[in-house]
Amino acid sequence: MKIVIVGGVAGGATAAARARRLDEAAEIVMFERGHEVSFANCGLPYHIGGEIPQRAALLVQTRAGLAARFRLDIRTRTEVEHIDAAGQRVRVRDLESGRTYEESYDRLLLSPGAAPLRPPIPGVEHPAIHTLRNMADMDRIKGSVDAGAQRALVVGGGFIGLEMAENLRRRGLEVALVELLPQVMPPFDPEVAARLHQELAANDVQLYLEDGVTAFEDAEGGVRATLRSGARLEVDLVVLAVGVRPDTGLARAAGLKLSERGALLVDEVMRTSDPYIFAVGDAVQVEDAVLGGPAYLPLAGPANRQARIAVDAMLGRASRYRGAQGTSVVQLFDVTAGITGASEKVLRQRGVPYQKVYVQRAHHVTYYPGAQSMMIKLLFAPEDGRVLGAQLVGGAGVDKRLDVLATALAAGLTVHDLEDLELAYAPQFGAAKDPVNIAGNVAVNALRGEEEFVDPAVLDEAGRTAYTLLDVREQAEFEAGHIPGACWVPLATLRARLGELPSAKPLAVYCGVGQRAYYATRILRAHGLRACNVAGGFALWSLIHAPRPKPRPLHRRPLSTLTASTSPSGVASEESGCCVGPATTVKNSAVAVVTRAAARTEPHTASVTKSPGQIELDLRGLQCPGPLAALAAAARAAAPGALLRARADDLGFCGDVDAWCARSGHKLESTHRDGREFVAEIRLHTGADVAPAGSPAAANSTRKTFVVFSGDLDRVMAALVIANAAADMGDEVTLFFTFWGLNALRKEAPPPTKKALLDRMFGWMMPRGAQRLVLSKMHMGGMGTAMMRHVMRKKGVADLPTLLASAQQKGVRLIACSMSMEVMGLQREELIDGLEIAGAARYVNEASQSGVNLFI
Ligand code: FAD
Repeated sequence: MKIVIVGGVAGGATAAARARRLDEAAEIVMFERGHEVSFANCGLPYHIGGEIPQRAALLVQTRAGLAARFRLDIRTRTEVEHIDAAGQRVRVRDLESGRTYEESYDRLLLSPGAAPLRPPIPGVEHPAIHTLRNMADMDRIKGSVDAGAQRALVVGGGFIGLEMAENLRRRGLEVALVELLPQVMPPFDPEVAARLHQELAANDVQLYLEDGVTAFEDAEGGVRATLRSGARLEVDLVVLAVGVRPDTGLARAAGLKLSERGALLVDEVMRTSDPYIFAVGDAVQVEDAVLGGPAYLPLAGPANRQARIAVDAMLGRASRYRGAQGTSVVQLFDVTAGITGASEKVLRQRGVPYQKVYVQRAHHVTYYPGAQSMMIKLLFAPEDGRVLGAQLVGGAGVDKRLDVLATALAAGLTVHDLEDLELAYAPQFGAAKDPVNIAGNVAVNALRGEEEFVDPAVLDEAGRTAYTLLDVREQAEFEAGHIPGACWVPLATLRARLGELPSAKPLAVYCGVGQRAYYATRILRAHGLRACNVAGGFALWSLIHAPRPKPRPLHRRPLSTLTASTSPSGVASEESGCCVGPATTVKNSAVAVVTRAAARTEPHTASVTKSPGQIELDLRGLQCPGPLAALAAAARAAAPGALLRARADDLGFCGDVDAWCARSGHKLESTHRDGREFVAEIRLHTGADVAPAGSPAAANSTRKTFVVFSGDLDRVMAALVIANAAADMGDEVTLFFTFWGLNALRKEAPPPTKKALLDRMFGWMMPRGAQRLVLSKMHMGGMGTAMMRHVMRKKGVADLPTLLASAQQKGVRLIACSMSMEVMGLQREELIDGLEIAGAARYVNEASQSGVNLFI
């Protein structure tokens, strides 16, 4: 048996290895037009982002290794140009030498994959526009990033687009993502994709939805993309990730049957319309395993399984491909999203009856540290509860539940079976009732009519009028944000206040995620009231109805333009014309929740974890004084005694936060570094336990604080002389270097650092180090400064570097202002050692405790 394989990556390499394992005597020839075989396409974005540092790690098998282990004849850089199906021969071309020759076969396996689409947009051939399919593409994109690209445009919000957006952000690029549809990840339903939109915004990816590129043109050093909306983006690099088309030109020319979209038609053993030719992977159309009918799912798992089945069939084994259910998972920054089976929109399109439930649970018991929440959307058949599809989004543990549900789907299980699944549990891994069991419980309740749901998507301004909305959460939760117009009756008081509830319209009851609302609806229904549960609770409602974050133009990250933001429903109090409970009097006191995206000029409304007593604050991406301003705003809005957990990546924040706590009377409970980030836990004072801020008693006459603003030789010298003198007298001295003063702290020969052009130019223009400062007066083209240095040397006056070193030796604290460093594009490595970096709060705190304060 002579087996010839076209394509040497996912499907091709799997088929070759399987063929050898089944038939030691077979002659196996594998042609691959690229340089490498068996490489990990799925890892390509992560090498660009640096997560997979070694390029070689992507080579799952080398050509030589694969050939030796499985005794294969592997010919790389060799393209199959023509198939003579009748004569069972292929014509191939050696791409290095140009030589062509023929090779016969008994069985031919086609695994040529798919080619990235390049839409016919004017200018799309610009060299800065890339697609990503293989190692060579990856090298080109990575090369561009390594060479200093700063702004990138990703076109297409599928999984490759999202992975590229994330990895380019990880490399520090400003990134915009343009998607034609109203959502990213088209296979997902919109409310699940909305969580991904939030995550993109939180990580400063500028998202243009329902928009597309109409033209590319050359721009200085890069490319300019014009969008349908009229937006124009100038970037250094574009990644086109708008989908793929089956690479089946060869098969078409050989007369093999193709689908309308050009995918090869195969039977259940992966045989094409020619009995001796098989095909697998991204090139083939498959059967939809859930709903039946054709499907095109270019994924690695199916390609591998199909390859095994095709080889089994070639070599006389009984195997059958049962179709694809489209199980796939994507990670986007800190969020994982997965899907298996049919989505709600596909069920609707195909007219298939379905029911749906949402469940929001932690991935393991919440008393064990590190629990992360996830949302499961479960779709099932109303007549028998058969699982039709599931989508999950959240943090850790999403992949595990996705696979459980994918298995349940493949096995034809029902929601009753999900209730009964015996899944592994220990506190670190799950709960005695796993989220999958809970999804089963809720679905069974819905099937039996014990619980009725209202879709939060319909509760827009108009849809809300059909219901009386009832919020059964605690006061602080309600105050932090609620659905406009909602009445507020906490669950604990519900039984006592049933008489107050209006009965003209059905009650749409909600809590945070649905559990308390379920208890409430049981009570209400038991008392004869019409009540349904708002599926997914306030969490899902806010996700669906949050305004879309507006993209901002790409440029270097601005200095903080922070505006304290409020939760989307913070406007609710004005609309709360409800008869029940104190809701009518509640002012909008939504806890300020600030995310990275809040560095924009307009208020941003992305939400983060919050509960009355504990607030998570994401300050990443903000520079001094942004993090502190946001922290202070959150503290003002939060309940006394609450715990604020703030995460920042501004270098100055770690220096600022303790000073801020000291000044404001809050208690800094803990701080730690997490990679490049800094996490602080702050217990807010209760009012009773706070010392008066800025108490004069704190002022200490033995402490001196100087702001060194000037970068003039004489002024910096004066500052250092006085500082040294004060230190000599036993005083505690702090010098806070800001703006031009920072030049005195620059190293003469700093290590190379990666910088934007503007920062580099700034660096060239400013004096590099204390030795290069010049006089404020009588500089006279350098003559005056040179004379002064000469006189100082002659008279034995220490020069600036010596004064700096001696001040440091005496314990004078030198602080570099983080905000000025950002403005001037200075990095830590460029400044002398032994410095602290902090923001304005640190100075204010030091100054308030000092007897003498000088501004130089
Ligand atoms: P490929 O693996 O693409 O192999 C086809 C090979 O055939 C190519 O190397 C090509 O050069 C060669 N070839 C084509 N025509 C000829 C010819 N005439 N002569 C010789 N050689 C030829 N899937 C997932 O399930 N999960 C993921 O996370 C995931 N991530 C991905 C990330 C990226 C960046 C990319 C590009 C793909 C990703 N995929 C992922 C998709 C997955 O890689 C594909 O579904 C899978 O590789 C398909 O296998 P295949 O054998 O059909 O094609």
